[in-house]
Amino acid sequence: METIFEKNNNTNGILLTDEKPDLSIIESKFLRTDNCGLPDIGELEVLRHYKELSDRNFCIEKGFYPLGSCTMKYNPKVNELLASLEGFSNLHPSQPDEDCQGALELMYKLQEALKKITGMDAFTLQPAAGAHGELTGMMVIKKYFEVKGDVRKKVIVPDSAHGTNPASAALCGFEIVQVKSNKKGQVDVEDLKSVLTPEVAAIMMTNPNTLGIFEEQVLEISKIMHENGSLLYYDGANFNAIMGYTNPKLMGFDVVHLNLHKTFATPHGGGGPGAGPVGVVENLKEFLPSPVIDFDGEKYFRNYNIKHTIGNVRDFYGSFGVLVRAYAYILMMGKNLKEASENAVLNANYLKEQLKKYYTLPFDTICKHEFVLSGEDLKHKTGVSTLNTAKALMDENTHPPTVYFPLIVHEAMMIEPTESETKERLDEFVKTMIKIYEEANTNPEKLLSAPHSTPVKRVDETLAARHPDLSFKN
Ligand SMILES: *Cc1c(COP(=O)(O)O)cnc(C)c1O
Repeated sequence: METIFEKNNNTNGILLTDEKPDLSIIESKFLRTDNCGLPDIGELEVLRHYKELSDRNFCIEKGFYPLGSCTMKYNPKVNELLASLEGFSNLHPSQPDEDCQGALELMYKLQEALKKITGMDAFTLQPAAGAHGELTGMMVIKKYFEVKGDVRKKVIVPDSAHGTNPASAALCGFEIVQVKSNKKGQVDVEDLKSVLTPEVAAIMMTNPNTLGIFEEQVLEISKIMHENGSLLYYDGANFNAIMGYTNPKLMGFDVVHLNLHKTFATPHGGGGPGAGPVGVVENLKEFLPSPVIDFDGEKYFRNYNIKHTIGNVRDFYGSFGVLVRAYAYILMMGKNLKEASENAVLNANYLKEQLKKYYTLPFDTICKHEFVLSGEDLKHKTGVSTLNTAKALMDENTHPPTVYFPLIVHEAMMIEPTESETKERLDEFVKTMIKIYEEANTNPEKLLSAPHSTPVKRVDETLAARHPDLSFKN
């Protein structure tokens, strides 16, 4: 497809003005002498160009998007309307507190709502995404031990963890100690005990974990960790599974991040803004980034008076537009947040039970909001790998699941349907997966060269990351 610059036909574009501007006030050496090269195209052709580009994209509005761990639920459009209200979108972050009481009230009330949902005692809304929340949380933990004069070097991370967990801890200077999963796909408590020393600052856990399995021994784990003087960090990316049923406080966690863009319905996946608020228990409050949003009974204000603050982790106050969307979503859902989790879990179990008749289910147990299949047996039998299955799904107007993660399952397919889907959509997906399974057994050639219908076929998965080429040269 041509770029808008190549389509430039110098014919129908809009003339901004036919008046000759007075350029005498600009020194001649600063005046452009050549054409600046902006494309000159009529409105209809511009519209067609961008429509064609957007048609090449896959999005939740186009089809089923079971991308495990990413919670690609429906993002109500009314949130967009609210976030674009002038009073929110035209605010300047340097305006004094008196001028932006509404925005501060929204942030304060969002903090309060997140405290209720997680059981934590205080929140910062600054971090820009989940991984940034992890980094913030680990900085809080590090500072806590520093101030206590009890310097600890190690952080424990289960082998099922998201890759950002060890990365965040390592960025804070911690040494990573891995613990194994047991046969049930849960943290092996005996292995955990064997690596626990007075040098361990914390464990980072996801619950339900990345296999979609609830860690049944979490209370024992939190007891063991606390007895060791260590803290527990909760990766809240899987919060969609537990809202209203339980919370990290009840499980014994001290620090938690949430992915507002996953659980609380902000569009994501295109690299747009996210938000990863971090909540802490009472005795870690004084380490949060500054400012936090506070209320003195009369007015809302930015509170910079945080004794051992780790400092600012982001310019100003975070992704404000995302906070507006999340708050709107929480108010709109109210008690139904619990029902959202209920349906997310039901949908996942429904799919799991249908699909395990065809694809291998390595941990055959009730799952939470997602589950992980293995394409290993299919690959041995037919040569069709998980990658091929994922590519074949693209030909069926379906976004592939997360593949090759978690690492502890070979040829992994991590499927998260979310609560937004109807039974008809789930049945359609099951049919598609069976069709691909049968094709793998009868006509594997077709799958080995899939996708056949997408604008881009098999891409080099590492080239774009290793040699990014982001500019257009005519
Ligand atoms: C998505 C995710 C993260 C990272 O969150 P980002 O917002 O993408 O930075 C961390 N842990 C788990 C389990 C996740 O699914």
